[in-house]
Amino acid sequence: MAISLKEAVEAMDYDELMKIKMDLESGGFNVKRMVIQKAREKERRHEAKCAVCSNEINAYSSNNYTLIFGPEDFRRKASFCGIDCTEYFMADLRDLKGMKKKEAPASKAENFDHKV
Ligand SMILES: [Zn+2]
Repeated sequence: MAISLKEAVEAMDYDELMKIKMDLESGGFNVKRMVIQKAREKERRHEAKCAVCSNEINAYSSNNYTLIFGPEDFRRKASFCGIDCTEYFMADLRDLKGMKKKEAPASKAENFDHKV
């Protein structure tokens, strides 16, 4: 279950809030370390759904791919259920960046093979 920062803060008891407040007042090093560590942990996992076809991703399939991209301070992540979806996403990115296509990957959109 995903919860927002506001929901997390509202669920905390007074002692936990005071610990975080004290940490933030002295530079926030513990909070920063905790957030960076959790972000790294989540980067290593595949997302639950394919970014192209929205199929659920079987965490134990060897056909899964996850791309991490973007600048260091705003990294993004997208997971795919197979090579076809990964290629389709890359072709879209290539179009967005105005780069020349090697072939016409958009034609594959109708012929996805979602076997895992
Ligand atoms: Zn897919």
